[in-house]
Amino acid sequence: MALVNIHFLNLQQNYLFADIVKKVNAFRVMHPKADVISLGIGDVTQPLCPAVVEAMHKAVDEMATADGFRGYGPEQGYDFLREAILKNDFAPRGVHLSIDEVFINDGAKSDTGNFQELLHWDNFIGVTDPIYPVYIDSNVMIGRCGTYRDGRWTNVRYMPTTAENGFTPELPKGRPVDVIYLCFPNNPTGTVINKQELRKWVNYALKNDALILFDAAYQAYIRDPDIPHSIYEIRGARKCAVEFRSFSKTAGFTGVRCGYTIVPKDVSVSTFEGERIPLNQLWLRRQCTKFNGTSYISQRAAEAIYSPEGKKQIQHTIDYYMQNAAHMLSVLRNLGFECYGGENAPYIWMRTPDGSTSWQFFEQLLYGANVVCTPGVGFGPSGEGYVRFTAFGSHEKTEEALQRIEKWKNQH
Ligand SMILES: *Cc1c(COP(=O)(O)O)cnc(C)c1O
Repeated sequence: MALVNIHFLNLQQNYLFADIVKKVNAFRVMHPKADVISLGIGDVTQPLCPAVVEAMHKAVDEMATADGFRGYGPEQGYDFLREAILKNDFAPRGVHLSIDEVFINDGAKSDTGNFQELLHWDNFIGVTDPIYPVYIDSNVMIGRCGTYRDGRWTNVRYMPTTAENGFTPELPKGRPVDVIYLCFPNNPTGTVINKQELRKWVNYALKNDALILFDAAYQAYIRDPDIPHSIYEIRGARKCAVEFRSFSKTAGFTGVRCGYTIVPKDVSVSTFEGERIPLNQLWLRRQCTKFNGTSYISQRAAEAIYSPEGKKQIQHTIDYYMQNAAHMLSVLRNLGFECYGGENAPYIWMRTPDGSTSWQFFEQLLYGANVVCTPGVGFGPSGEGYVRFTAFGSHEKTEEALQRIEKWKNQH
């Protein structure tokens, strides 16, 4: 008899974006003429930049020749891309890593979800709250999170990241956390932490022999020069942290698929007997067994964003989105809404007015202004009372959505 992995049955049935779609569809049935604008889902909208497109065409043409054809590539990725990453993303920030610490992947979601496989099932995990749902759900799937009660998993330490603490989560007290997920710039709050704050986490991990899984998917959006782009800018981090990066938000690769993970050779975890096991070797073994590499074409595309033209072109698109963010912040604040984020990240995190819940405000905005936001509570209990707006829309749609919100708000 084939038995199911019962942990999958513990996953919460209601996936946030599916719920949003259901509610928007219900609205559309009743209001077929309304034109709904979504500032909800975190996908990019602007096309790939010319340097990337050109590199992809060239890679396809190479594959069409007997000499240039590539079959299976190295599971860890091609050296041309790993070298470009070290040279452009880390060396200029004073971080010197070696090439075999870089693992190219098909996007950060896979690795942020898969990495926990290397860890014993009864590690105690901690997450900042609200959070990208992948971190928790991937741990639920192997039974690490306990049971779900009142919007929380019993075996997860939630570390609130709210306006009350200035969006700087506090270190866990009481039972030490073994594995800590951090994401800065943060999705969904759009907020960042400075080096001093990040150093606290690194020191906590070193002191408690904990592992930090650091998601830097939005580092390209950082404008403030004092905000760290990589956790390895903090001394000691290469002993306790793994970092995930993605070209999805940096260069519009949500459909192309390419990202990478840094697993420093100095990061190790323990056996019950106290033997230290380096995660770099374990991850290499895992990837070589379960992953056959990202396509050559995607990797050439990613390499192209490090060319002088590529750099300029992706910056242009990032600036485009950040203009949306600045505009959204200014309009929403003028209307009296309490907004956070949006300065070093493409997300605005807004407190719902008059004590309404995230879902109540979601519906009010949908019915009143025909604009879709993302209910904050979908990202964790501390997201209740907030909604998220994304700056990934076109200027035109974003402007129109803001005008509608303004009109709606002024009628009240
Ligand atoms: C979008 C996003 C990613 C990137 O996912 P990909 O699989 O690389 O497209 C990773 N982490 C967070 C928090 C994100 O929002």
